[in-house]
Amino acid sequence: MSETQCLGCGQQLGTPFLDLGCSPLANSYVPPERAGQPEQCFPLRVAYCEHCHLVQLLDRVPPEELFTEYLYFSSYSDTVLRHAAQMARQLIQRFGLGPSHRVVEVASNDGYLLQYFQRAGIPVLGVEPAKNIAAYALQRGIPTLNAFFGPPLVPQLLAEFGAADLLIGNNVLAHVPEINGFLSAVRDCLKPDGWAVFEFPYVVDLVEHCEFDTIYHEHVFYYSLSAVERLARRAGLTLADVSHQSLHGGSLRIFLSRAPGVQPTEAVSYMLEREQRLGVTSAGYYQRFAAAVERVRSQLRSLLMELKAKGHRLAAYGAPAKGNTLLNVCQIDNRTIEFTVDRNPFKQGKLLPGSRIPVLAPEALLESMPDFVLILPWNIAQEIIEQQKEYLRRGGQFILPIPTPRIIRGPGQSTAAVRTGVGESEDA
Ligand SMILES: [Zn+2]
Repeated sequence: MSETQCLGCGQQLGTPFLDLGCSPLANSYVPPERAGQPEQCFPLRVAYCEHCHLVQLLDRVPPEELFTEYLYFSSYSDTVLRHAAQMARQLIQRFGLGPSHRVVEVASNDGYLLQYFQRAGIPVLGVEPAKNIAAYALQRGIPTLNAFFGPPLVPQLLAEFGAADLLIGNNVLAHVPEINGFLSAVRDCLKPDGWAVFEFPYVVDLVEHCEFDTIYHEHVFYYSLSAVERLARRAGLTLADVSHQSLHGGSLRIFLSRAPGVQPTEAVSYMLEREQRLGVTSAGYYQRFAAAVERVRSQLRSLLMELKAKGHRLAAYGAPAKGNTLLNVCQIDNRTIEFTVDRNPFKQGKLLPGSRIPVLAPEALLESMPDFVLILPWNIAQEIIEQQKEYLRRGGQFILPIPTPRIIRGPGQSTAAVRTGVGESEDA
C-alpha cells in the first residue's frame, strides 16, 4: 500500500528523501519451524511534507499486521523501568495526583509505567493492542483494555473508567497512521482541565546522531516540535510545554492541554525557534541526513566485512526492532554474524527477520566468546557494557554502530589489537 497524501494535512507529498530498500517487518521474528519459508518484504521510504513539516513513511502496513502479537516487553530493560519510575514521580507531583484522579495510558505495554501510579493509590487504566502483552499486564494486576486506541474506543473508555485527568502515551504517536483521529480521541477522553503527555523519538536527534535504524514500518512518523504543534492545534489541544529526554536516543516529552487559554511555556517557543535555525522545517535538512546515512551504512558494512575476512568471530547483542533495520539496510546476515543474544525469553530461539541471525540467551556470550559483539540497542549500550564486564575482561570487544561505527574494548587491552581504519577505539 503506497500513499502520496500527507497523513497530517492531506496535501500531496513530494519524492522521498530516503529510500532504505525493501525489508521484512522489524518485529516479525521468525520461529525456527518457519526458517525454510521466505519472508514478506515491504518498501521503506521516508518523505517530508513541505506544508506541515511532518516526516512520514510513504509506504504503510496496516496496524493490525504490526501490533496484534508483539514481543517488546518494556520491563526487560532496566533503563526503561528507571525512566518510567522517574516519569511517574514527576507527573504525580506536577499535577498533584491522588486517589480521586484517573490516569489512562495508551499503548501501556506490560504495565511498566502504570504500576508506579497504581502504587501511589491512583486509579489507572491501560489500553494495549497486543493481545499477549495486555494479558500479561492483567496478570500483573494492571487494569488493561486489549484494544486499539482511537475514536471508536472513546465511549467504552468513558463509560467504564470515566474521563482522565491525565492521559499518557509513550512511544505511540509515531505508530498511529490516523493521527488526527487519534488526537481528537485523546481530547475526548480528557476532563475539561485534563492533560495529555506524550513521549516520542525526536527527529532532530534522529538526524543529528544518524539514528536511521529507528526507521521501520511501525514508525509512521518522525516528529519535530513544529509538526506536532500543528497536529495538536488541529485536534483542539494546546502544546503547553516540552522537555527533552535522553531515552531512545533522544525523545521529546510534550504536555497538551484541553483547557482553553493555556499559555505555552518559554521552552516551547525556544525549541520552535531552534528548529527554524537548524532548518528542520526545510527539505534540505533531510536530504543532508540521507547522505549521512549512506556514509554510516558503508562504513559499518566495511568494518564488519574486514573483521570477518581477518578470521574474527562476530556476534551481536540484543534483538531490538531497530537492530533489524540496521542489519537489513547494511545487508549483514547470518553469514557474517553467528548469533545475537537477548534477555527477552520470547525472542530467544527465534531468528531475526531478514538477516536470519539466531537469538540466544545472554549466557551464550561468555560460553562462545566471539571476538566482536555488535551492540544493536545502542541507546542502552552503557547498561549492556556494564552487564557484560566479564566478556570485556576476557578480551571481547564491542562495536557501536552509530553515529559512527567504533570499537570499544576493555581497559587492559592493547590498542594495537585491531586496525580497521574505521572510527576511533575507546576504553569502556
Ligand atoms: Zn502535511
